[in-house]
Amino acid sequence: MLDIKEYVEKSNTTSLKHSYMEACSNKEFYQYVSSLPIEEEILMKYTSTLEECFLEHDNCEHCKSFSSCKNKVNGYCLTPEKSKKGIDFSYVSCLKKKKIDLENEYLKHIQYYDIPKEIRRASFKEVYKDDTARVPVMKYMKDFVKNYGKKEKLKGLYLNGSFGAGKTYLVAALFNDMAKKKVKCAGLYYPEFLRDLKASFKTDYEEKFNYIKKVPLLLLDDIGAENVSSFSRDEILGPILQYRMEENLPTFFTSNLTLEELENHLSMTTTGVDKVKAKRIIERIKQLTVSIELVSKNRRS
Ligand code: ADP
Ligand code: MG
Repeated sequence: MLDIKEYVEKSNTTSLKHSYMEACSNKEFYQYVSSLPIEEEILMKYTSTLEECFLEHDNCEHCKSFSSCKNKVNGYCLTPEKSKKGIDFSYVSCLKKKKIDLENEYLKHIQYYDIPKEIRRASFKEVYKDDTARVPVMKYMKDFVKNYGKKEKLKGLYLNGSFGAGKTYLVAALFNDMAKKKVKCAGLYYPEFLRDLKASFKTDYEEKFNYIKKVPLLLLDDIGAENVSSFSRDEILGPILQYRMEENLPTFFTSNLTLEELENHLSMTTTGVDKVKAKRIIERIKQLTVSIELVSKNRRS
């Protein structure tokens, strides 16, 4: 005679077994569960979750691209693993997701501020090859990559030229390449960064200021397009450049202005004209950079 408890247990087991066997009538499901290093008595207890795992696994088997992922959590596959108590289920990232993560790992080393999305993805591989105007810049960049970390005093670039010529794109391509080598970089759209920095005066001003001062590679994008105040010139830009000069930290600039035009721009503030202070900034930029002009057609659509 079975007592009640035993009876309930036995009938539960029977019904679990029944639904498991029923699921196994699907040949592919059966093959899937048979390939798992888990005993049948345990598998039986998890039929419906295993069916879910099987569907996700099957989606992965037939997957063409990450963007067409059919699983509940994109890029992940619900996967069973034997545990002490029975089976643990977890979302394991798929190979395509892992590949994308690896390709994007460099983004951890780079900070872009107000730089367009397509430029954040810039790469040397994609740089237009049809434009000879880029040759001197590309040569400079090739040498930079080769010499970074080997030569102590490596100059950045003052890249000036026409609107839409690809100045920002080229420096971003270099930074992305360096970030892939785990070098920390920051690319800031300078006019907006200045506005933001000033607005953070009561909050994290120091933190931002110090970060920009010390980041190993810095791009001040579109310098010359900002509104100049004596404060931003003498208390922000000046000390940043001074520090970077002393510490040999490569610094890059893009601008629509030549250095002479930038000097003129920096000399005029809302409160008056100061040619000496503007000249001092230009001297620092000259110390920090090699100057190249990029004149090319406007690539902006
Ligand atoms: P600039 O900074 O000189 O004004 P950008 O770097 O913003 O010009 O480039 C203008 C546009 O052309 C951007 O949309 C950018 O993505 C595109 N572009 C520029 N150079 C390249 C390149 N070498 N390969 C692909 N796209 C580029
Ligand atoms: Mg630009």
